[in-house]
Amino acid sequence: MSDLVLVINAGSSSIKFSLFETTAADPQVLYKGQMEGLYVEPKFSAKDANDEKVANETLPADVPKNHDYALRHMLAWLQQRLGGRQIKVIGHRVVHGGTQYSKPERVTPELLAGLEALIPLAPLHEPHNIAPIKILQDLLPDAPQVTCFDTAFHTTQPELNQMFALPLDFAQKEGIRRYGFHGLSYEYIASVLPQIDTRAAEGRTVVAHLGNGSSMAGLLGGACQATTMGFTALEGLPMGTRCGSIDGGVLLHLMNHLKMDAKQIETLLYKESGLLGLSGISSDMRDLHASSDPRAKFATDYFARRVARETASLAAAIGGLDCLVFTAGIGENDDITRANVCHQLRWLGVELDEAANAVRSGEPRRISLADSKVAVYVIPTNEELMIARQALAAL
Ligand code: ADP
Repeated sequence: MSDLVLVINAGSSSIKFSLFETTAADPQVLYKGQMEGLYVEPKFSAKDANDEKVANETLPADVPKNHDYALRHMLAWLQQRLGGRQIKVIGHRVVHGGTQYSKPERVTPELLAGLEALIPLAPLHEPHNIAPIKILQDLLPDAPQVTCFDTAFHTTQPELNQMFALPLDFAQKEGIRRYGFHGLSYEYIASVLPQIDTRAAEGRTVVAHLGNGSSMAGLLGGACQATTMGFTALEGLPMGTRCGSIDGGVLLHLMNHLKMDAKQIETLLYKESGLLGLSGISSDMRDLHASSDPRAKFATDYFARRVARETASLAAAIGGLDCLVFTAGIGENDDITRANVCHQLRWLGVELDEAANAVRSGEPRRISLADSKVAVYVIPTNEELMIARQALAAL
């Protein structure tokens, strides 16, 4: 009999879940869904294994709008469909594992204390990752829980690439170092690369995870050597509404001359910048491509330029480039941005196959010419499957 694996990905305003059933090969999705709009107007939606919508409701106005209620509601909905079948293990996405957690961990009281100690490093995310663990301990006391970290994949980075050039105490005593994020996505890509291209799997590969949040990583033999995100998920590429890397002197200027306080600066850097800030139109790539406003084109060109520059920077960190992989919402779907990036990387040996790039598909595919020195692929990511695999393996 197959087993059930529940995957939870909880953020500040939403909780996503996927329920997997184990098979001889990879676990398969039975249901996936989410509660969005927490604290405002929570909406629950879910799809089944065939991607058909099986739930779509706005919660009544008189019920609590918080995480606790949302999780209980989702679990009750799932249990109605499971006919008494038990969940074997629950896997959680946890944003920050600090320097101490470099692999998935079984939840114990010690682990929970360790995660709580990491809250100062990710105050906006870590509490929302920890809370569902505690609620599920109460609701499903017999189900083991496993935490899967977004930082873990990057712990293989050499010290050279993990440090800021601050006095050493800031790294050693305060934990101010470059951790990197989106690790579950990179780990998934690294896990499927051997079946797609052995040279890429064993060699020098840059993966571009381009979504609302975007980052890139340089892999050597499947292990991370360098990544664009740093202490927080603000560094590196510009994103939907985040600015990406910025001269620290700008922040000093905002404080000292424009008299902005920390909260205002946080809002500016996280919510008002990136594609939205540059275009003044939207944070969504599709809107920008659809617009005839020159600012929209400037924003998309800016994004592609930064991806091209970071590719070259990561290639320097891994000693060259055998393969470039595009993944996540923009990477998987936006042929315009992919072409823009690839054209800027011709000097590195990237030769795009324009026809292959224009094909729309949910499958992994090669989009470079057969004689391109650098092989370029589009590979859909699957962070939930990675968590399900890790949770099962951790048992
Ligand atoms: P998140 O970081 O929230 O998981 P996603 O990986 O879903 O984000 O990526 C969202 C981004 O993907 C948005 O900018 C969206 O415009 C872009 N995107 C999705 N589909 C397309 C498409 N067909 N063409 C261009 N961009 C797309």
